[in-house]
Amino acid sequence: MADESTSTPKTDLTPEDAKNYTERAYAKCPFCGDSRIEGGSISIEQNYAHQDVFCTECDAEWSDSYRLEGLLVTRTPDGRDFRHGEYPLIDGPPQDGAPA
Ligand SMILES: [Zn+2]
Repeated sequence: MADESTSTPKTDLTPEDAKNYTERAYAKCPFCGDSRIEGGSISIEQNYAHQDVFCTECDAEWSDSYRLEGLLVTRTPDGRDFRHGEYPLIDGPPQDGAPA
């Protein structure tokens, strides 16, 4: 893909920028668009997880927030095993063939 990382990084993000980042461009810095971003440790609070992220290109820092979307049973108490994909995701996001 073409990369236009030569432009000056943004100094602020709009709600549209945040929406684009969370839905499509999460592997790239929301300020400068560079893919050289690094994640720190993950903390979990109830239904949410947070990870500090740092851009090595423009020095921006932010925190990614994740919300618990569902669960995937891999083994039941009576020992039945389920490989991923063989048991339904309960109350999770739609499985519409999103790329891995
Ligand atoms: Zn950046």
